[in-house]
Amino acid sequence: MNLIFEKSTPGRRGFRVPPSDVPSRAEIPQALRRTRDAELPEVSELEVVRHFTQLSQRNFSIDTHMYPLGSCTMKYNPRFLEDVAALEGFSRLHPLLPQLRGGGILTQGALQVLYEVAQWLCEITGMAQFSMQPLAGAHGELTGAMLIAAYHRFHGNRKTTVIIPDSAHGTNPASAAIAGYQVVAAPSNERGVLDPAHVKDLVNDQTAALMLTCPNTLGLFNRDIRTLADMVHAVGGLMYYDGANLNAIAGWARPGDLGFDVVQLNLHKTFATPHGGGGPGAGPVGVAEPLVPFLPTSVVVKRADGTYALEYDRKDSIGYVAPFYGNFGVILKAYAYMLALGREGLKRMAETAVLNANYLLARLRPHYKVPFDRRCMHEFVLSAAPQAKKGVKALDIAKGLIDRGIHPPTMYFPGIVPEALMIEPTETESKETLDAFVDAMIEIARLADEDPDALHRAPTTTPVGRLDEVAAARRLDVCFPLPDDAAQA
Ligand SMILES: *Cc1c(COP(=O)(O)O)cnc(C)c1O
Repeated sequence: MNLIFEKSTPGRRGFRVPPSDVPSRAEIPQALRRTRDAELPEVSELEVVRHFTQLSQRNFSIDTHMYPLGSCTMKYNPRFLEDVAALEGFSRLHPLLPQLRGGGILTQGALQVLYEVAQWLCEITGMAQFSMQPLAGAHGELTGAMLIAAYHRFHGNRKTTVIIPDSAHGTNPASAAIAGYQVVAAPSNERGVLDPAHVKDLVNDQTAALMLTCPNTLGLFNRDIRTLADMVHAVGGLMYYDGANLNAIAGWARPGDLGFDVVQLNLHKTFATPHGGGGPGAGPVGVAEPLVPFLPTSVVVKRADGTYALEYDRKDSIGYVAPFYGNFGVILKAYAYMLALGREGLKRMAETAVLNANYLLARLRPHYKVPFDRRCMHEFVLSAAPQAKKGVKALDIAKGLIDRGIHPPTMYFPGIVPEALMIEPTETESKETLDAFVDAMIEIARLADEDPDALHRAPTTTPVGRLDEVAAARRLDVCFPLPDDAAQA
């Protein structure tokens, strides 16, 4: 497909600007003024519309293809959520409208949504209160780490370290470090989880927190959580729950009951909302009772008369972590999603996500190496190390999947598994789609034996084929080639 610059025809126009009827004020110094026109493509309106519509149709997305991107929970976003988020009573609200008197009537509904989602999240996680402000998972982690620091400061404890497993998402150590902590990496055992026997040696009076994802990024549930929590609490430390994987346990187990004190959830992973490419997301943070005073300003409260209001008077609060009240549209979608599913529906969601992942694992086990071969939760990690010995790496398998109409799984993460492929089907895929994925993976495993080069050439069905990654790094060229440059190339 041509670049829009290549479709340019001199003099062609997609718009007409009427002549200016106000005096022009030429205050820009001569030296700063443009001396020749910007080189913009000259195209008709219809050409612009077709160009970008066709480009948009080249996207791989959850609306067009299966998208088993482990850890990211690329779940289907039911379309009615978009209608709800677009309702004018919500979408045209301004966050500075008065909360109570006068225009207050306009904001009560939005405040009620914020309040009720926070209440439901408390019920789902076993926390005492939630802040809806953080704008993404990583932002929620940072907020959580800041809350932990505020709690320890308040109690006069100078603690310096946060323990994080070697399988953790990279945002975990980054968040702890930005909040001022040294990160202590804890090794996973041969079952793919933290072992109390190892962690015992790492926990001491410097331990501010243990930061855990559960189930972890290998899709494995740690049955020793209570023991770990007791160990950390015994030295005055706190338990932090990275809730990006809540899709696996929502409605079945509550982090609060497992001994966690601080929880961040990724609404965009567990409660619908399309995500990827940088947002928008929502990473609300919930805390147990002792940390409530430190929650970000402001908190939505329900008054005795049944009205809702924002409470700003919080002297121990860590302050604002985001403008206004978070990504309200995402929170609204989560609200509608939870209302639609209800208590039993949420349990079914988690149950089906886990069932689908175990079905894939069972069918793929004979064809790929399973480094931690246990019953998985909502995702699992394969290793393509045996295929790599024959010259077919995880990357080649991912490219082969693209040719078969499937978005690649997460690759090379977590780093403790060589040639990792992390697969998460979510609850919404049909058995036919799951089977089509398995068939594609089996065919690729067979090609790795019989015709590795076929996979080295993949993808062959996409507008852009295999990129020369070495050249892309060494001879970086991000400019549109003008005819002269093209001649040299
Ligand atoms: C996605 C993810 C995060 C980060 O969430 P973002 O919303 O992308 O910032 C953190 N931890 C885990 C385990 C994740 O899967």
